[in-house]
Amino acid sequence: MNKKERLEELFKEFPGIGPRQAKRFVYFLLWKSPNYIQELSKSISEIKQGVRRCQECNRYFDQSESNNNLCNICSNKSRENGQILILEKNPDFENIEKMNIWGGKYFLIGKNLKITEKDPQSKINLFSLIKKIKEEKIKEVTFALSLNPEGELTMDWIKEQLLPLIKDYDFKITELGRGISLGTEVEYTDKITIEAALNNRK
Ligand SMILES: [Zn+2]
Repeated sequence: MNKKERLEELFKEFPGIGPRQAKRFVYFLLWKSPNYIQELSKSISEIKQGVRRCQECNRYFDQSESNNNLCNICSNKSRENGQILILEKNPDFENIEKMNIWGGKYFLIGKNLKITEKDPQSKINLFSLIKKIKEEKIKEVTFALSLNPEGELTMDWIKEQLLPLIKDYDFKITELGRGISLGTEVEYTDKITIEAALNNRK
């Protein structure tokens, strides 16, 4: 594999990027100035600096937002209303949080399971979610995963893990209302649709 092919392989790991787009990126970079390439490599190598991952909800947050290992939402007592919204990823969180329609907490799984996934346990870590259910008074866990086969599979698998806990910890599991034509991606869904889907959760 030469250097161009290697970079193509790296780009192919990006969400939504196929072989043809990966190739376009490589040629785009070949065409750009050395300054641009340098700036880009520097930004990539520094991307994790000043960013933390919340130990409770898994979301990435800026170090300036909170000075411990919990993000400002998980450490905010007024958000402890017994409700947790399960989302796939940070952009989904950012989209919903800016709408001001959710007063509870969040739990991000990171990435939905692939249809071919044989070992979900190794891909999704539910430890902090289960801990929260056991230690805090959680009344409701709501799924807001994207409505595509991966999202459905992921929701079914997590539900299976949570169901045995219901008899001891008395909480309900709900999901966004299905009558609404929620876009395939929570990240791009507008406020009216998300709000209606939340109000119609069951
Ligand atoms: Zn958090």
